[in-house]
Amino acid sequence: MQILRTAAAMARRSARWDRKVAFVPTMGALHDGHLSLVHEARRQVGKRGAVVVSIFVNPLQFGPNEDLSRYPRPLARDLRLCREAGVDAVFLPSPEDLTPAGQSVFVDESLLSAGLCGASRPGHFRGVCTIVLKLFNLVRPDVAVFGQKDWQQLAIIRRMVRDLNVPVRLVGAPTHREADGLAMSSRNVYLSPEERAQAPALRRALQSGAELIRKGETSTARVLAAARKVLAREAPLGRIDYLELVDADTLASTRRLPAQPLLAAAVFFGRTRLIDNLAVVAAE
Ligand code: AMP
Repeated sequence: MQILRTAAAMARRSARWDRKVAFVPTMGALHDGHLSLVHEARRQVGKRGAVVVSIFVNPLQFGPNEDLSRYPRPLARDLRLCREAGVDAVFLPSPEDLTPAGQSVFVDESLLSAGLCGASRPGHFRGVCTIVLKLFNLVRPDVAVFGQKDWQQLAIIRRMVRDLNVPVRLVGAPTHREADGLAMSSRNVYLSPEERAQAPALRRALQSGAELIRKGETSTARVLAAARKVLAREAPLGRIDYLELVDADTLASTRRLPAQPLLAAAVFFGRTRLIDNLAVVAAE
């Protein structure tokens, strides 16, 4: 497994790719969710292709009062997991490499970024898009794999790729969960035992809303009320940042059920902010 520690080394390497490349951008602190993306990347390019993982805690996507400084960085373990998962190359750029002093060009998606996480984390998706585009330019992948856990992020990156003609094919991979339904996240380690015990209620709340939709409910307010009730009952330590029913494509919310309903939520447990979503597929 090759380790590339600078943008220049990565660019030199990718100028010489002689096989298909699948790319998985991450912020490290790898868990089975990340590894499921690595396996999907391998499926996309086969044995003869190359799988590249980047590990970069992107300062541009953290707000001033967020967890940039305490974000976990278990690098040796991450590298071991990548090696064991059959990754061909790991890209480990430094902040100086990807966020040069005086940078004055950024990528701003202006429509899908407005709501959900974009509303509570101003500048977050600008930071994501800017760094993901830079990573694409340096790694030059044929395919890039992103998790549906970050549904809004995937939708925004799809839009960036479409609108800026970025030559990469995007693949979305399903959310990997703990046995009790909690979506795996590098941030789960911040949870106290009490918070950890209540956190799976986030998934159950979304499921209860989805169940109402499947039973024929068409009022957004009633669907959200059902989900909110589950959170109030089962996760008293949780504080809802947002809980919304939007269209899975446009991310727009409406009073009546959207064409492709997506339930999405962010909930704070103490200072830890967890997100999850559920795309409701109509029962056949
Ligand atoms: P992060 O390191 O949190 O920035 O995530 C890197 C990539 O892994 C993103 O595409 C995420 O959507 C994806 N990811 C994070 N958690 C999960 C999960 N539980 N299941 C599947 N993909 C995930």
